[in-house]
Amino acid sequence: MNKVPDPNKTQRKIIHIDMDAFYASVEQRDNPEYRGKPIVVGGSPQGRGGVVATASYEARKFGIRSAMSSKKAMQLCPHVIFVRPRFAAYKEVSVKIREIFQRYTDLIEPLSLDEAYLDVTNDKLNIGSAIEIAQQIKQAIKDELQLTASAGVSINKFVAKIASDINKPDGLKFIGPSNIEAFMEQLPVEKFFGVGRVTAEKMKRMQLYTGADLKKLTEAQLVLHFGKVGKFYYKIVRGVDDREVQPHRETKSVGAEDTFAYDLTEPDEMNVALDKIAVIVCDRLHRYQLKGRTVTLKIKYSDFKQITRNHSFGYGIADLKTISQTAKELLLKTEPADKKIRLLGITLSNFGEIVHPLNKQNNSSQLELFQE
Ligand SMILES: [Mg+2]
Repeated sequence: MNKVPDPNKTQRKIIHIDMDAFYASVEQRDNPEYRGKPIVVGGSPQGRGGVVATASYEARKFGIRSAMSSKKAMQLCPHVIFVRPRFAAYKEVSVKIREIFQRYTDLIEPLSLDEAYLDVTNDKLNIGSAIEIAQQIKQAIKDELQLTASAGVSINKFVAKIASDINKPDGLKFIGPSNIEAFMEQLPVEKFFGVGRVTAEKMKRMQLYTGADLKKLTEAQLVLHFGKVGKFYYKIVRGVDDREVQPHRETKSVGAEDTFAYDLTEPDEMNVALDKIAVIVCDRLHRYQLKGRTVTLKIKYSDFKQITRNHSFGYGIADLKTISQTAKELLLKTEPADKKIRLLGITLSNFGEIVHPLNKQNNSSQLELFQE
């Protein structure tokens, strides 16, 4: 019953393309004075809440990373240059990159402005070799847009995505069917799709460090310890990922959440946590160029009881202040003082048609976006 399908039977050709340090590279391309210098695209280090959206490779040498606070980035490299994001410019480049992809296939699933899966099993130009197609795409991006991308090529989305990260920047990595199992066995657990910080810690407490360790567990054991996503781990660790490249995937919601190392009991602490989560949500909204009308707050208590509260606006919002303030007001209505909170999450949804502000619909059909 739990038989894993043979990956060799459904031989697809999948490419994952990921632009290198995208926002920072566009800024360095358009502003020669930034070239060869450590720059950070993101929020200002003055004031609270500024975070790094993208750091140039020169800035990464100092240990600066995405989602780090801008203050911290400044401490790591005092001469780093902070640049305000120009999302309209990145969107424009993104459209051009997509046009390059479309020369080869229409099966394109964008993950953000700078990342996409391509299914080139039947490519438009009958090139046949996914490696050759990846090379041509990289070259076109270089020649026409003066930017570099890294590509991962394999027979499924998960392996292609991991592969694109291996030889960054300007990399190209192919992981063929005969190498997949060995590759997955040496992969650290935190690299597995959907394994966040908390799950990774739990795995390590169970002495599970790599794919090889995960492989020793049965599907039932994985489900027992990690819930229904355990079924996915069971397959993925064997290199099996049947997810299709979905060209028309609609983003239904964008959110982020945090599970705390200890239960929060002080409203002040909860508000600080919400501020941090709001920064991540806000960054993701910008990446997807979305404004949402509904803000949903999710709370999980120490007894695992979970509630959600939402508020809808008559117009779309994407700004940090409104998001964090709305989340805090929703929290306040739950009378949080003296309650033990294990998890907080904020989600923006309702990107489509206008809803009446008083219509408090619940968004039960939320599609979570995985963000590695
Ligand atoms: Mg990228």
